[in-house]
Amino acid sequence: MIFNPPSILNFQGLELGLDCKAENVFISHAHFDHITKKSRKTLASKETIELMKVRGVETQKIEKELKAELLNAGHVLGSRQLRVEGDGQVFTYTGDFKLSDSITGKAEVRQTDYLLIEATYGKPEYVFPERNEVYDNITKWVKRNQELNIITILGGYELGKAQELIHLMNKEGITPLVGGEIAKISEVYNHYGFNLKFIDINSEEAQEELKTSFVSILSPFKIKKELPQIKSNKKIDYTTPSGWSKKFILSDHADFNELIEYVEASEAKKVFCTHGFSKELASELKKKGFNAVAVDDLKVKTELRELMVSV
Ligand SMILES: [Zn+2]
Ligand SMILES: [Zn+2]
Repeated sequence: MIFNPPSILNFQGLELGLDCKAENVFISHAHFDHITKKSRKTLASKETIELMKVRGVETQKIEKELKAELLNAGHVLGSRQLRVEGDGQVFTYTGDFKLSDSITGKAEVRQTDYLLIEATYGKPEYVFPERNEVYDNITKWVKRNQELNIITILGGYELGKAQELIHLMNKEGITPLVGGEIAKISEVYNHYGFNLKFIDINSEEAQEELKTSFVSILSPFKIKKELPQIKSNKKIDYTTPSGWSKKFILSDHADFNELIEYVEASEAKKVFCTHGFSKELASELKKKGFNAVAVDDLKVKTELRELMVSV
């Protein structure tokens, strides 16, 4: 994933960094490419603040009372968009978002004049299948493995994807074994009313399960580290559902069509694309008649900065 350098929003007499290093920051959600290790004065949802704490990042309050709306982004628990109004103009920053519905809902789209939109899948080739169809395919694959006495390992990012997969498995009556960090984050989900059932793979309780053809959800980056020695000679089947997957395309992000749909519904008169295929998305939007630019050079960043001074 390409992360474009920071954007600063000047508004209500305050410089606010958008998911970037600044004294005062808006944090759209608690993924590591949007938070920094340092404790900062933070505007974020209470869920994000709690998730950041669990991930080892303390936050402080912004002293000034800000008039800003945080809209659901539907990306992961606590993910929000920032919408601010001033001088009769509206500016919206989407952060990471999606429009397809899942356990954390979908992004709310409101009218805006200026839009800073993520572009992770900003190329026309990224069109995802229906979410429910993908859920069905994953479930069928897991059940088939169980029938064949095969161990199933689903790779899933520790915040968001893992909980979506736990929920999917729970619907089938399966309680998956999960990595330690996934267990901690899932507890936060449960604190906010989710009823996720899982077993920490490092716990005593997991020992019996590990002898069966169990289902496990682990971070794709920690499988070697977290998967204990399997003492049986059972086969293991592994896949990581994601937007980049060839097998199960399941993403927490908008696909190309959703990005376009968002821009159209927002009626934005100027669109700034960031975070991913920003150039490609901007050029596709231009073809459709939108005033769109990629936030990838200093000129555009300066323009964005100056534009926002008036808000
Ligand atoms: Zn994210
Ligand atoms: Zn991101």
